[in-house]
Amino acid sequence: MPPAVTPKRLRERRNLRTLLRPLEELARGSQHLFTAHLELTDPTATGAIGPYPHQRITLPRFLFAGPGSGGASFLRLGIFGGLHGDEEATVLGALAFLEKLHAQPEIARGYELFVYPVGNPTGFADDTRWSRSGVDLNRQFWRDSAEPEIVLLERQLVNLAFDGIIALHADDTSPGLYGFVKGHALTRHVLEPALTRASTVLPRNFDRSIDNFEANAGIIEAGYPGVLSAPPAQHPRPLEIVFETPALAPLDQQIEAHTLALEEILLRFRAVISEGQSI
Ligand SMILES: [Zn+2]
Repeated sequence: MPPAVTPKRLRERRNLRTLLRPLEELARGSQHLFTAHLELTDPTATGAIGPYPHQRITLPRFLFAGPGSGGASFLRLGIFGGLHGDEEATVLGALAFLEKLHAQPEIARGYELFVYPVGNPTGFADDTRWSRSGVDLNRQFWRDSAEPEIVLLERQLVNLAFDGIIALHADDTSPGLYGFVKGHALTRHVLEPALTRASTVLPRNFDRSIDNFEANAGIIEAGYPGVLSAPPAQHPRPLEIVFETPALAPLDQQIEAHTLALEEILLRFRAVISEGQSI
């Protein structure tokens, strides 16, 4: 029998400070990687649960400024993990991707990346989908939500006006990889190769219906209202991708799938944007 998950054990495993430290160390000596955490106030804080002794909560953010691309303007992407607190693979996937970029900055040539590995810090600490105030944060966007995480992230989305928004998720009802596309009309041409690349590690979900949506080879062109997305007033629309791994698959394979998908998205993104502009 595996050892029981005691609150203490869970707290250690899900201690954000411990988890982020290696990347913060890398950032200290890097010309590309920067730590730029945000802070929010936990309205439900008692100090009793999770790694946070105070009401101030860290919402982690890293910047990665890739090498320049010979005069072409930088493309700005927002990458979001851990909006559902129990989807550990998305948090670790985003962090692993940053580590890979640190080792191989060329992957991010021409990109300015804003990476939010843990969008739901209280849910992550508690190992729940919901934030500590009991809501599914990924149904709250652009609905005048007063949840502090939403207010903070919406402000980021407005101020940074991303060219692309990539949200990482893990679905325990899916036996394979799939994703949602939204926004820019050519977005599926970025998700398609990302799914192909990640399917070297985990199978792709080819069901005709996934998560109650009509799906085509693992791609869904619909979505729930209130999911993390570009500000309604942003034009032209950015590319918006939700990438999902099967949450019941081994954790290391999911982390690898997220990392490969993100790498492939960066590889394809600029070409698709330029193609779109010439139509
Ligand atoms: Zn999710």
